[in-house]
Amino acid sequence: MQPQPQPQPPRRRIRPSGPAAIRRPAALRRLPPTRRLAALATITAVTLAVSTSAGTGPLVPDGTRAGAGPASLSHSSAHRPCMISSGPEIQMSEGIPTIDDYARSTGTVRALTLMIDFSDAPGEGKALDRYAEFFPQTEKWFRTSSYGRLDYRPDAPIRDWLRMPKRFAQYGIDRGAPFDPGYRELVQDIVTAADPKVNFRGYDLLNVLVTPNAGPSALDTVLSVTFAGNKEAPVADGVPVANASFVYSRQDDGSGSYDRTGYRVLPHENGHVFGLPDLYTQEGGGAAGHWDIMSEDWGANNDLLGWHKWKLGWLDASQVHCASSPGTKEYTLTPLARAGGDKLVFVPLDADSGYALELRTREGNDETVCRPGVLIYKVDADVDTGMGPVKVYDSRRDSGGCTRSPNVHAELSDAAFTPGQTFKDPRRGITITVAGADLKGHHKVRITRR
Ligand SMILES: [Zn+2]
Repeated sequence: MQPQPQPQPPRRRIRPSGPAAIRRPAALRRLPPTRRLAALATITAVTLAVSTSAGTGPLVPDGTRAGAGPASLSHSSAHRPCMISSGPEIQMSEGIPTIDDYARSTGTVRALTLMIDFSDAPGEGKALDRYAEFFPQTEKWFRTSSYGRLDYRPDAPIRDWLRMPKRFAQYGIDRGAPFDPGYRELVQDIVTAADPKVNFRGYDLLNVLVTPNAGPSALDTVLSVTFAGNKEAPVADGVPVANASFVYSRQDDGSGSYDRTGYRVLPHENGHVFGLPDLYTQEGGGAAGHWDIMSEDWGANNDLLGWHKWKLGWLDASQVHCASSPGTKEYTLTPLARAGGDKLVFVPLDADSGYALELRTREGNDETVCRPGVLIYKVDADVDTGMGPVKVYDSRRDSGGCTRSPNVHAELSDAAFTPGQTFKDPRRGITITVAGADLKGHHKVRITRR
């Protein structure tokens, strides 16, 4: 049986540009492959435009902001060699710690959520029904994935559709629309319309749930986008609206699973707000498969990579092991989806990359794991969002995979290594063997490096 065609969200990448990039807004969006060239040109232009101004000021109210990275990352001196980092030209990096322009990813995070419509796309049904497409599933998803460390509190202080002053068409929002000028106008209009009823200082991030009839079907074009760490955004109640996710048309593939899976675009977009890059590339989900919601956010539920959980501050230093010394050493891994225990082993290669190992099983948010085992992937902090910063190694190449679940990259679904299997990087003298599994399902891995 052939793998099912993948009605994937259109995938594309954002190009890095210039040394100012690290403090620039990261515009992350998905565009249809057919529009790649045009979109690339658009985005390059925008990126340059945005990097010319330098905003200042706090992201959210004083005292409530901890920052995603330095404040929440748990590590010791033994982790130093594993704290890979990127050059300044990388727009959105897998590096650790995360720069602190992004929203906090631990503790209580307040998500202002506004439902907006337009005169040429009036909200159909109740705004609160739109809200209910994403909540409470999104907060539950974060609670599960973070082992309770992210207490995500959505709030919809305005219960009705918030009507924008201009027609949807006037904002010029289509595939690849940059922050300027359309999104800047939209954010400014949202702020103006909501301000009488909303104290923006009380929130860590903004979700804009656009009426689904504005713009094309998500099957044709995914417009959903996040502007993260954007200090140049319009200011509301004294703070820039720096971390904002916009969700458009329903990610409904017609398989009848929308009620169960359609919300997943929001944890993906919010992942950017917390500093996570896109793992899909122009070629789709073939780099990281369904092993992370930043790779595939359509279809059955999936979790985040252990690397992302460490980056977000959801793992303790004691749960992460840095395999930097030469010789042979054994480590135990417990299922990533379960709280407690050893979760991640990282084998650094150089200052900006390394191999990560974690045990993936079918539980928690991981709904489609069909061959449990040790996932081995390369993390490269010097590869930008959408360019493939994570590459999963397939223990059974060209097998076709073990799932036919819609919108799940099939080939990599059986990528995990099982007891007896070995991964080798002869050039660097690294051998990783899954040495065995005990009755509890914990796996032992043996790492040899010269
Ligand atoms: Zn994305």
